[in-house]
Amino acid sequence: MYPRLEINLKKLKNNLRIISNLLRKNKISLAMVTKAYCADINIVNELVKDENLVDYLADSRIENLKGLSQINIPKILLRIPMKSEVEDVIKYADISFNSEYETIEELNKEAKKINKVHKIVIMVDLGDLREGYFVEKDLFDNIKKIQDLTNISIVGVATNLTCYGAILPSEKNLSKLVSIAERLEKDYNIDIKIISGGNSSSLFLIDENKLLSKINNLRIGEAILLGRETAYGKRISGTFNDAFKLICEVIENKEKPSVPIGESGVDAFGNKPIFEDKGIMQRAILGIGRQDISIDSLNPIDKDIEVIGASSDHTIVDVTKSKNKYSIGDKIEFLLDYSGIMTASTSKYVKKYYIF
Ligand SMILES: *Cc1c(COP(=O)(O)O)cnc(C)c1O
Repeated sequence: MYPRLEINLKKLKNNLRIISNLLRKNKISLAMVTKAYCADINIVNELVKDENLVDYLADSRIENLKGLSQINIPKILLRIPMKSEVEDVIKYADISFNSEYETIEELNKEAKKINKVHKIVIMVDLGDLREGYFVEKDLFDNIKKIQDLTNISIVGVATNLTCYGAILPSEKNLSKLVSIAERLEKDYNIDIKIISGGNSSSLFLIDENKLLSKINNLRIGEAILLGRETAYGKRISGTFNDAFKLICEVIENKEKPSVPIGESGVDAFGNKPIFEDKGIMQRAILGIGRQDISIDSLNPIDKDIEVIGASSDHTIVDVTKSKNKYSIGDKIEFLLDYSGIMTASTSKYVKKYYIF
């Protein structure tokens, strides 16, 4: 069935092995982030089986962690919880990242109901301006109150960078995280087990010997999926970038002009598109669209074709220069970047095929 997402589990596991070894060598625990592929149990099972490569499974959505319940590896909820989901958070996450006392209080109530102690990691915003305590005084004021909660245990601190604000991790900003951790240990007598210094964009610091030795955890998604660090997009040697492949079917292939004909209004998404006149083109249409895939993420394996646009259910590719003659029913293959893996994984219309 098409479109299909082919997932090469051997290649993925190879990538995981390389990242895991790199972190272990540097005494950093690995939280494997599963959200891009919706924590697909077939993928996770294969990655964690036999070898002990992963210290935590981490996801931003509690539904995804719920699906991983049978796997006996501690689970981290990365996105700070919604108040409305605290019951599930207590059930399905061993650890959650938090930055709001109000929510932590709710977590405490739920944990108490089932006689559990829920572990939390305090999220610190070092300037990327997504989630986390931004003002240190707020953080330390809250810590005292959190320590009074009977069923909450603070086990660490974490920060997230290069997500919203595109701020790179550095010795300078991460030293602030470390100093907060040290103050929590010294002044508040908290055993800080986890100092989590970011995501795939922190890997280059290991390479440059600049990751502070106190940082003992990273949360890695993209680097495992695509074999590259994400601060500069550098490839990690020995890894694959083609573990995920999208295969789409040609449903029409005709010669047509490159500029639409008639009076111009707006396209299916309310935009006024501009077209360059490239003369008559050979235009193939694929049975996939924006409902399934982030179009900018498609990298055709046939280098002579170009994706020129898409609506909800159709994607148009210029095959004029291709050496292949695409017939109706033929397949066109793409490598994907992160947003492509994420959207294709999320679309129920894209069938998943696993290569073991
Ligand atoms: C998504 C996410 C990660 C993983 O990021 P990658 O760039 O895929 O490594 C880590 N931490 C948090 C809080 C996240 O939301």
